[in-house]
Amino acid sequence: MEIVNSRVDEVFFNNQKFFIKRDDLLHRDFSGNKARKFYYFLKSDLNSFSKIISYGSAQSNAMYSLSVLCKLKNLKFDYYIKHLPNYLEENPSGNYKKALENGMNLIIGEVPEGFNEDELFIVEGGAVKEAKYGIELLANEIKLWAKEKNINEDKLKIFLPSGTGTTSLYLQQFLPFEVLTCSCVGDDEYLKKQFLELEIEKFPKILEKNKKYHFGKLYSEFYLKHLELKEQTNIEFDLLYDSLGWIVFEDYVRSLKEKIEDIDDYRFLYIHQGGVLGNATMIERYKRKFTNI
Ligand SMILES: *Cc1c(COP(=O)(O)O)cnc(C)c1O
Repeated sequence: MEIVNSRVDEVFFNNQKFFIKRDDLLHRDFSGNKARKFYYFLKSDLNSFSKIISYGSAQSNAMYSLSVLCKLKNLKFDYYIKHLPNYLEENPSGNYKKALENGMNLIIGEVPEGFNEDELFIVEGGAVKEAKYGIELLANEIKLWAKEKNINEDKLKIFLPSGTGTTSLYLQQFLPFEVLTCSCVGDDEYLKKQFLELEIEKFPKILEKNKKYHFGKLYSEFYLKHLELKEQTNIEFDLLYDSLGWIVFEDYVRSLKEKIEDIDDYRFLYIHQGGVLGNATMIERYKRKFTNI
């Protein structure tokens, strides 16, 4: 399987020009930032292992991508979750359904304390140092694109929403441009802690949110942003990270416009990190909760 250069689209969203790095289109089965993060494992010889073990939520994009990786590499896949939400048990969909089809062995319970030599343990969300190899490739693609477009180093602003922060942190490490992000899973303090764990000094800039959000909860503004994006750009974005990401990034661009005179020289690049397979489950939940939308 080859993970090749993803294209960059140019769109207008609410009368503002944005470039979009289409990592969601990297590969049919292995895409988005999990493809970048697990690239190292995809390219490595994993013959000394018989199994990958990981844990997290039952709808995780990382879980699905690991199930694809295990299938490709002929490895068993044990995935630990704390509990299985009722709506998934009754009606399997999205990442959960696909991961089971790929042979994932779902275990409801605690993650073991130790592992055998032939078991490869990957922490939740793929927040591992090996992620930097694939993210460096992403950075190189962006550098090449910016060069072709003749974009000035300090005039390119790159945004991507963070979960564990692994992708935004390594991207900033490999890029001369400013990388902006926002926390989606925990608060900003959690995100900074995650950055520190990976022992890199230069952090991306964390943009503040004007409201506190809880990961995985349903917010009508998220659903509306998702629909608005789809309608205006014709691109489907993820509901867990991207809706919030766009709300924050649009706010940032708006406030920059008020502060800066040569705003027309600036270019804004949003990284589409995939994850749309999870939308099926989310949209069902949204439709059930907000019957009037
Ligand atoms: C995993 C994921 C993220 C978060 O990536 P981190 O490297 O954990 O910050 C963002 N968007 C999508 C679609 C993802 O699947």
